[in-house]
Amino acid sequence: MTVSLVTGGNRGIGKEVCRQLGRLGHTVLLSARDGEAAEEAAGGLRAEGLDVRALTLDVSDADSVGRAAREVGELDVLVNNAAIHYDTWQRATTADLAVVHEAAETNLYGPWRCVQAFLPQLRRSAHPRVVNVSSEAAAFGSMGAGTPAYTTTKAALNALTVMLAAELRRDGVLVNAVCPGWVATDMGGPGGRPVEDGAQSVVWAAVLADDGPSGGFFRDGRPLSW
Ligand code: NAP
Repeated sequence: MTVSLVTGGNRGIGKEVCRQLGRLGHTVLLSARDGEAAEEAAGGLRAEGLDVRALTLDVSDADSVGRAAREVGELDVLVNNAAIHYDTWQRATTADLAVVHEAAETNLYGPWRCVQAFLPQLRRSAHPRVVNVSSEAAAFGSMGAGTPAYTTTKAALNALTVMLAAELRRDGVLVNAVCPGWVATDMGGPGGRPVEDGAQSVVWAAVLADDGPSGGFFRDGRPLSW
């Protein structure tokens, strides 16, 4: 049995990742900061015949992450998907640093907290995987003006990905950053590609073989430059 946990699994790409992992036969812990939203989304996927369980987990809240980690016995795959503040309204020169700070709590410290909290379970897994859902918007090569809270926190998440991959190599934990592409969700807005495609990009890194890459940045299974 493979157990996978997805943060921000109640809507958008996260929910579709839960569906696709469920279809692959995983037991999916669909987590959301709002327990009712988690229950509702998990119930919908169970009605599709999938083994999906709800879990309350607010990645910005250390107590919530700690509680969730105590509830989870086994874990093979951690998908750090939850994120906020695609701040198209801001520029770095004038950004509200409170917004940047808030973004960091979810987009950077959130995945960091989750990895630390679930590391005991991941270390016990025979095929542990961590997927940090990032964005090519955070690649230095293509970075320009704008979205400062989102871009700096995702760039830091990319750095964290490289570090965790190096530190966890000995334990066999494959840690990668993935860009789902521009996807038509609440965050992405209309015009992006279907959520199924974005989720598939993420799922690829969740089901890597043991000799798969670690410490990389990918979209649709193809490397991106940092
Ligand atoms: P979305 O539709 O806005 O969904 C975001 C999810 O994150 C929601 O489930 C939300 O829960 C959850 N979330 C926010 N703060 C949280 C917290 N503190 N704890 C737990 N969950 C929290 O976004 P999306 O488009 O699906 O994006 C998913 C991932 O893909 C993100 O990492 C995003 O940066 C990345 N991405 C998206 C695009 C795109 O075009 N859409 C492009 C590149 C990268 P609530 O319902 O409670 O708010």
